[in-house]
Amino acid sequence: MSALSNRINNLSESQTIKMAKLGRELAAKGVDIISLSFGEPDFHTPEHVKDAAKKAMDDNFTYYTPVAGYPDLRKAIVKKLKDENGLDYDASQIVVSTGAKQAIANAVLCLVNPGEEVIIPTPYWVSYSEVVKLAEGKSVFIDTTVESNFKITPEQLEAAITPKTKLFMFSSPCNPTGSVYSKEELAGLAEVFERNPHVYILSDEIYEHINFIGGHESIAQFAAIKDRVVIINGFSKAYAMTGWRIGYTASNSEIAAACDKMQGQITSGTCSITQRAGTAAYDGGLESVHHMRDEFKKRRGIVYDLLKEIDGLKVNLPDGAFYFFPNVTAFFGKSFGDRKINNADDLSLYLLEEGHVATVGGDSFGDPKSIRLSYAAAEDKLVEAMKRIKAALGKLQ
Ligand code: PMP
Ligand code: GLU
Repeated sequence: MSALSNRINNLSESQTIKMAKLGRELAAKGVDIISLSFGEPDFHTPEHVKDAAKKAMDDNFTYYTPVAGYPDLRKAIVKKLKDENGLDYDASQIVVSTGAKQAIANAVLCLVNPGEEVIIPTPYWVSYSEVVKLAEGKSVFIDTTVESNFKITPEQLEAAITPKTKLFMFSSPCNPTGSVYSKEELAGLAEVFERNPHVYILSDEIYEHINFIGGHESIAQFAAIKDRVVIINGFSKAYAMTGWRIGYTASNSEIAAACDKMQGQITSGTCSITQRAGTAAYDGGLESVHHMRDEFKKRRGIVYDLLKEIDGLKVNLPDGAFYFFPNVTAFFGKSFGDRKINNADDLSLYLLEEGHVATVGGDSFGDPKSIRLSYAAAEDKLVEAMKRIKAALGKLQ
């Protein structure tokens, strides 16, 4: 019998992290793996951000920080929310965390009681359903398909809400589909929330700058519901700062105080040096961010053209983030040698072992019909990866 708690026994391992690990292990054995599994920009952190971190160390920013973050960083975040998103927050409503991942965990653990329902459109980012489990809440899924560009309608949202609903969680631009909700689409959802004042909204906006169709729209712009929106954002994607571990929530004051209290008992304030780097990132303008976005857009075009040529894959053109989420059901039931593909996770493993390309099966994103490919990799690697995927899929009969 396991000595471990039901809490951890019931928790699924993060598949994004698992597939990245499997890919690294094979690469360490000398296999030439192309990793399209991990959602992480392949760019370096901008120089001015790294310089600020070096200076922070020399200036002895090496002590415990305020749990919710240094005041000047919280002010820089407030300014960013005003300038880039047109949203008004006070610095006391910002809680800086060890990555957007912790910001999400803080918010869910602070809002959701055991048994309360959390509505999550599928496909969703892998950690959403798991953090709801940690809070002992109940995930209620709204399924979407590639045909509707993986977006939900106000009618679907309304039908999923019950008196037990506490929270709605989504990302736009979306990981894993790259879908982006327009202002009009968000307005439709906001109207439903206006009629349902018991529902809070967790709006994960970490990919806001990787948007190929225009400016970012936040659901917090709708005044009637703003007080119930918790914005999640961070520096990992926009500033290529995945290893620095910094993200934040912007919310009403009650939720902000709760997240501060929660974090004060679990991790305390995020790394002092990272926080100084974060302030420099926001103070330094958007030039590097726009450069990365333009590169991602170019790669999206290259990968899309190659994916469309592969028989059996059903794929849409995503409007943001850096993922494709092709439907792979055409390969279910097919085999190569003694290897049979029963589901998307089997296919992802097959592509790793036979094609030497790491992807992530859709099951952990709540969509067992698809696989996720990240195109945050160099162009020549992407072209080679598509060649390998085409060849490996072509062998399945
Ligand atoms: N939300 C989404 C949708 C993500 O893809 C990720 C992964 N980076 C996160 C949150 C967590 O980001 P961070 O690295 O800031 O913890
Ligand atoms: N968010 C990235 C992804 O989806 C990084 C992995 C993770 O944090 O789970 O792949």
